[in-house]
Amino acid sequence: MATMKSHAKVVVIGGGVVGCSILFHLAKMGWKDVVLLERSELTSGSSWHAAGVIHTINSDPNIARLQEYTIKLYQEIETLSGQSCGIHRPGGIYLASTPERLDYLKQERAKARYMGLDTEFISLKEARDLNPLIDPEKYLGALFEPVDGHVDPAGVTHAYAKSAQHYGATVYRQTPVVETNPRAGGGWDVVTSNGTIRAEIVINAAGLWAREVGRLAGLELPVQPMEHHYLITEAIPEIEAHGKEIAVTVDYEGNAYTRQEGKGVLLGTYEPHCVPWSVAGTPLNFGHELLPPDLDRFADRLEVAFERMPALGRAGIKNVINGPFTFGPDGNPLIGPVPGMTNYWVAVGVMAGFCQGGGVGRCVAEWMIEGEPSIDVWGMDVARFGEHASFDYGTKRAMENYARRFLISYPNEELPAARPLKTTSLYDRFKARGALFGVNFGLEHALWFAPSQAQAVERPTFRRSDAFPRVAEEVRAVREHVGVIEIANYSKHEIHGPGAAAYMDRLFTNRLPRVGRLVLSPILTPKGKLYGDLTIGRLAEDRFFVFGSGAAQNMHRRWFERHLPEDGVVYRNRTDRLHGLSIAGPKSRELLARLCREDVSGEALRFLDLRRMTVAGVPCLVARISFTGELGYEIYCAPPYQLALFEAIEHAGSDLGLRLFGGRALMSLRLEKSWGVWTLDFRPDFTAAESGLDAFLRFDKPAEFIGKAVALAEKSRGPEKRLVSFVVEADGVDVNRDEPIFHEGACVGYVTSGGFAHYVKKSVALGYVPAGLARSDAIFEIEILGEMRPARIQHRPLFDPNGGRMKG
Ligand SMILES: Cc1cc2nc3c(=O)[nH]c(=O)nc-3n(C[C@H](O)[C@H](O)[C@H](O)COP(=O)(O)OP(=O)(O)OC[C@H]3O[C@@H](n4cnc5c(N)ncnc54)[C@H](O)[C@@H]3O)c2cc1C
Repeated sequence: MATMKSHAKVVVIGGGVVGCSILFHLAKMGWKDVVLLERSELTSGSSWHAAGVIHTINSDPNIARLQEYTIKLYQEIETLSGQSCGIHRPGGIYLASTPERLDYLKQERAKARYMGLDTEFISLKEARDLNPLIDPEKYLGALFEPVDGHVDPAGVTHAYAKSAQHYGATVYRQTPVVETNPRAGGGWDVVTSNGTIRAEIVINAAGLWAREVGRLAGLELPVQPMEHHYLITEAIPEIEAHGKEIAVTVDYEGNAYTRQEGKGVLLGTYEPHCVPWSVAGTPLNFGHELLPPDLDRFADRLEVAFERMPALGRAGIKNVINGPFTFGPDGNPLIGPVPGMTNYWVAVGVMAGFCQGGGVGRCVAEWMIEGEPSIDVWGMDVARFGEHASFDYGTKRAMENYARRFLISYPNEELPAARPLKTTSLYDRFKARGALFGVNFGLEHALWFAPSQAQAVERPTFRRSDAFPRVAEEVRAVREHVGVIEIANYSKHEIHGPGAAAYMDRLFTNRLPRVGRLVLSPILTPKGKLYGDLTIGRLAEDRFFVFGSGAAQNMHRRWFERHLPEDGVVYRNRTDRLHGLSIAGPKSRELLARLCREDVSGEALRFLDLRRMTVAGVPCLVARISFTGELGYEIYCAPPYQLALFEAIEHAGSDLGLRLFGGRALMSLRLEKSWGVWTLDFRPDFTAAESGLDAFLRFDKPAEFIGKAVALAEKSRGPEKRLVSFVVEADGVDVNRDEPIFHEGACVGYVTSGGFAHYVKKSVALGYVPAGLARSDAIFEIEILGEMRPARIQHRPLFDPNGGRMKG
């Protein structure tokens, strides 16, 4: 074996499809000093025994786009490397046998329209022409995706590795990594059985061993290998007679995917009684091995499959494969720089490496080399999980996810695995009051309140749910009286020190507030994309609190830490140290006045003031701001005080019509103000000017904020698209997200969020359309569950357009 290099810019740990794709993309994009270390031979994890099926469908449109990219890349690496990838592209059919599944497929088709994919419904007769094994009588509809097919997993992995070497990358086989030790300057010593290599950046792409390799760096990754079966049949006469390859077929209710293998069929299934593999850890000596098959585990699934594809039932079974592959907590990969670590990256939990490996490799390489990926990768970002996402959490969520892989996920559905994990002092109290909970970054928070605990039930649906009338009542209480909502789940970041103001001024686009005041401000990336939409509060000249999306707290923490100067600035994520309640509504001032001795009149505590105050005997931080668009206050306190604060608010508000409200009502209230939210309407796919957040860009402030040059250029040329708010003529179904928007028959944009605005009683959709159409009074159409619904742009907020209520 050649002597190993002593230094590399990047060391990729793991030679499965994911590690090899990352290596390829790094080298192709110009980083030649990149090395891949493989414990054994390439493909020695889950990659070698995959079924190799490739498809584009994914609930996250950006991941779907990356899957399409992956599929289209195979030809390129095959040509470049001379290594066959065994590409078969007979197309794919997705079958529905319930009305709800048909609705789901309509949504997928709708998304495909704006992604520019050629996904279309075909008749069941056409479906049968593409796959003669199916019994059309068993189905209600079929969606056809022309790019789907399958590849040879080993061929693909080797093609990536050879193509990477073609561009100058290095691969060392039989080189297990046994230690990863951080170096003082920020790099890593990667210790292997063949010596040590000093790396500027390490990336853990160790697939089945992601947990073990993470542990070498003190990291607990919430991923879990799951056992997975597929079987291969003997030759089937119907296939022999068909004359061409049958389409890859997914039968959701039958819980089976199939593709042609030789003249027979490969059939895989995601059985509900799933089995996590090696929960205690992947054995270090696990090699090119399979697990003992257990046909009984999915015998009931096979019966359904044989009913729906009778020829399969007649065919002999040639081989049964049971192999492990790794799942993340929500079924999507975990990629990117790990928050809280320096130069340590991951690309793990990739459960569909042959659909996603190319996209993962591209995004990681762009992110490393250019500082940010070319599309929003939130759905795959490792920062969407935090310390709550332990091994245990990973196992429970992976099992839930595996078992539900072919079940429908409804937009109003809250899944139970690994919950409750993080709760506040109000959890039991709210539960007794009929709260139905959602989860945000591991923390339970109330979505809405039923009249009693027994009535706190919400059936999963694409349509208006059981929550609808309750949310309407909560919204009315806020608009007409006063409501209280827990805001423990908002993120709170504290930044202080002599250099804090200069640091903040560079990170944020708005002018910093004066002491005792708040301002709203986006964060931009160097390429001018949105990276945050936050509220800055200034407590002293050198001390700031930043409030924002709880879900994005680790992503923002990573951003804040990445830009910290050597000294002079201290950053802390205080989200779990500050809980709190927000009161909002025309009677909220009166309520606050009853709870404190200070003057809280409009002159003394003005809109956008931030004050340390004692409220009901509790030391609090009070911000006069509310996401409801009402007069309102966010009252933050340390967690041990929160129950007392809540009890005092409830008691003092009893004769003011006070009502508890939850996250759903908040989302409805903000819709009537046309306000977007982070992770939906505001995210790195869009710029400040596109989103309307350019109102918070201060080009004339002395500090050169990140992204300024690009934002200035965009200002002079004008944005390409704009976020607008529509009123939709809905018919009992509101938009959720990702519905296509049509103008004069052409798809011109898509919905980023929406729902029913209860106080104004209108169905609202927020979405991006070409800038030239943003001022249009024309009738647009939005496709909701396959129906074209007329929609008009609402140029001013539906409620209190001048903001008099919140400022008053
Ligand atoms: C039965 C089955 C069917 C599947 N079907 C499909 C399918 O149809 N379509 C699809 O897209 N996906 C499918 N998959 C999933 C697919 O196989 C995985 O998504 C993919 O293999 C993940 O690749 P990876 O590179 O992340 O991990 P792995 O393939 O596990 O690779 C990790 C590599 O890291 C190496 N490594 C580990 N520790 C170290 C160390 N300390 N030092 C150096 N090297 C180390 C390992 O030896 C291994 O080669 C299937 C999986 C199974 C099991």
